Amino acid sequence: MLRDLHNHTLASDGSLEPAALLDMAVEKGIDEIAITDHDSVDGLMEIHANKAQWSLNIIDGVELSANWAKQTIHIVGLNIDPRHSGLTSFIKLQKSKRQQRALQMAHKLEQSGLTGSVADIEYMADQQNMVCRTHLAQYLLERGAVNSFANAFKQYLAKGAKAFVPDEWFALEDAVAIIRQAGGVAVLAHPTRYKLSSNKLQQLVVDFKSAGGQAIEVCYPNINPGQKNLLANWANKHNLLGSQGSDFHALDKPWAQLGKFPTMPQEVTPVWNLWDPSS
Ligand code: AMP
Ligand code: MN
Ligand code: MN
Ligand code: MN
Repeated sequence: MLRDLHNHTLASDGSLEPAALLDMAVEKGIDEIAITDHDSVDGLMEIHANKAQWSLNIIDGVELSANWAKQTIHIVGLNIDPRHSGLTSFIKLQKSKRQQRALQMAHKLEQSGLTGSVADIEYMADQQNMVCRTHLAQYLLERGAVNSFANAFKQYLAKGAKAFVPDEWFALEDAVAIIRQAGGVAVLAHPTRYKLSSNKLQQLVVDFKSAGGQAIEVCYPNINPGQKNLLANWANKHNLLGSQGSDFHALDKPWAQLGKFPTMPQEVTPVWNLWDPSS
């Protein structure tokens, strides 16, 4: 069984329509896929009526941005009810936070000499379902302000860069709680990508567990074997299940391709035991 439990579509900063993502997943022989857009369930709603069309198990998911110890962290929710009213209100607030942040960043871009940024980004934020820094990076690349996507983050959008605006997401506890209220399983996404020291990262895992978190991602692209072992140990030590996923966004990002990530260590209890106990 090949399960990819972390993916993006055009409903946030992915490049494919949900239907196209599912077509590709079937082509690649994936048996189970979770669509987990940033702060959005619109992609799920789009394919809801046609799920039977694809010969794989489709999991309704989401990836919420949250705040922990002044850091932004990501919590994936799996098997959520996308129509849950509390989750719907939460997402509505996230959307307005994202729009505000995009406009604040636009003002900073304008101040740093990129004239027209405010008007362009105002328009973009209106058009986008869920505006992400990825979209701003694409904008900077297209107008020739940077020579690569990575440099858009380095020079303008990453922490400490010219147009950075600190995130003001809800707390980790709130994000976990809303996922659980919507019937979902809360998964700490890509723990090693937050650039935290080992001690701080373990504190995050502990706090996530106390908040009601049930699983952590152990297998994802670019993780090295040492990091994977560490996460496997922490999953067991803190009684958390293990999850996996490619965090696929687009075909032109070869480091994160659909269905491609290291295998789950034997000693970790996989999160899919919750919905597929015979596995
Ligand atoms: P946001 O949630 O709007 O702050 O945007 C975060 C998204 O931007 C992540 O989910 C990634 O897809 C992308 N991203 C963040 N940092 C980088 C980076 N240094 N290079 C490329 N993409 C990045
Ligand atoms: Mn993203
Ligand atoms: Mn993420
Ligand atoms: Mn993601």
